[in-house]
Parts: sequence; structure tokens; C-alpha cells
Amino acid sequence: MKTIAIIPAGGSGTRVGGDIPKQYLILGGMPILVHTLMAFQEASLVDAICLVLRDDDVSNVPQTILSPYNLTKVNRIIPGGEQRQDSVKRGIDLLGPDYDFVVIHDGVRPFVSPALINKTILEAARYQAVTVGLPVTDTIKKVDDLRVVSKTVNRDHLWLTQTPQVFAAPLLKKAYDLAYTDHYYGTDDAALVERLGSKVIMIMGSYDNIKITTAVDLERGELILKMRQDKNVINRLEAQVVDVNRRRL
Ligand code: C5P
Repeated sequence: MKTIAIIPAGGSGTRVGGDIPKQYLILGGMPILVHTLMAFQEASLVDAICLVLRDDDVSNVPQTILSPYNLTKVNRIIPGGEQRQDSVKRGIDLLGPDYDFVVIHDGVRPFVSPALINKTILEAARYQAVTVGLPVTDTIKKVDDLRVVSKTVNRDHLWLTQTPQVFAAPLLKKAYDLAYTDHYYGTDDAALVERLGSKVIMIMGSYDNIKITTAVDLERGELILKMRQDKNVINRLEAQVVDVNRRRL
């Protein structure tokens, strides 16, 4: 079973502040995109990574961002399209017959874990199309143009959807072909597969797996990193205590 990850990072979104697209902003000393790529480098079930960048970045990003971090699984770097879906499509168009499964993951979701990536791939091997997400916990209300509440929506079956999303390669290609024939744009890749009438299975994502969109997300990101570092320190100290106690016995 061969698996390639397509990482769309060809957006120009600068909502976080400044002129730098958010995928290149620094989080804990490294660009956001590098955090994302390192998770895929570590995920044992990912064989290769196709990185989709803005046109202008294709020639310089590899030296400035990728080389220092030994991201050896990145074997394709291609220019993206106008919208995210167009960027993913360019990756899909280059696939060829080598890969059985395709993982799609936003370049600006840097806290995805290798374990979650592997788990999603394994589920896709069983179900063909899988997305990660979280059950909605807030109350959902529908409002009209004047923001008058028209309805309180039953949230029992509502999930907030994240990436990674993993698909059997032929199914994904078929879904993209149909979407482009119909000039359909979805807000995620799973929506294109759903249009085929194929089942997409939802699995539990992670509360850390945020998409960096605003300055607040960047602050949250720094906190997530700090919590992870603190946890590592605590784990190391606990291991030392266990070791000392064992020697005493
Ligand atoms: O804009 P949004 O946050 O939804 O983008 C999600 C991901 O898609 C980001 O990593 C962004 O860089 C990427 N993207 C892309 N090509 C575009 C627009 C967005 O690869 N034209």
C-alpha cells in the first residue's frame, strides 16, 4: 500500500498580520509549514509528499525552508492554483499509478500528529474515504441576513471537519474529474467524494489540530507548543524518578 500526501500551501492568506503568508510565519522558532511537514516525515505510513506552493515560492522555498530540516519525503514541489481546490487538483493531476492512497492536509495545520495521520490512512484502507473532525459541542443557530435567529439546529449529528482526509487514489481522481466537469467547488475534498454518492467516514480528530487563520490562532499555537514541551519535560522527569526508585530496590 503506497501513500502520498498532498500538502496545499499555495495560499497568500496574510490575515494573521504582516505581509508574510501564514504558512511561513514562525511558530516556536520554525515556519508553520515545517511543523506540518515534519509530522508527515515522521508518519510511517506516508511514502512521499507533494508540496503545493505559490508560483513565486517554488524555486526558493526548497533551499530556505526544506533543506535545513531534512524533509526527505518531499519529492514533488509544484505551483498551486487560484483556489485551494485548484492547488490540490494540480497535485492529483501529477499522481500517476504509483500510489494507492492520497492524504490531503492543509499546510497551515501544524499540530497534526504522525499517529493521527497513520490512523486516518489505516481507516481509509478499510473504508476508501475518511476525514477527521470533532463533534460540535456549542449550540448551533441559523440566522437570516439581519442576524435574526431563525432556527436552533439539532447538533446531534454535526461534526466540525478538519484535515487530514484520506482517499483511495482512483476514487479521489474520479471525484475531482466530476467536480471540474460540473464547475463545482467544495469547502473540503471530502465534499467532492460525497457528490459521487460514495461514503466518507468521519473519525475523531484532535483539539490541537487547529488551522492557523488569525492572530489568535497563532497565540493558541504557541500555547499548544509550550504545553507539549512541558509535557515532555514532565514525562522525562517521571521516567527519571521511576529509574531512581528502581535502582533503590
Ligand atoms: O485559506 P485556507 O486557510 O482555507 O487554506 C488552507 C490551505 O490551502 C493553506 O495551507 C493554504 O496555503 C492552501 N491554499 C493553496 N492554494 C490556494 C489557497 C490556499 O494551496 N490557492
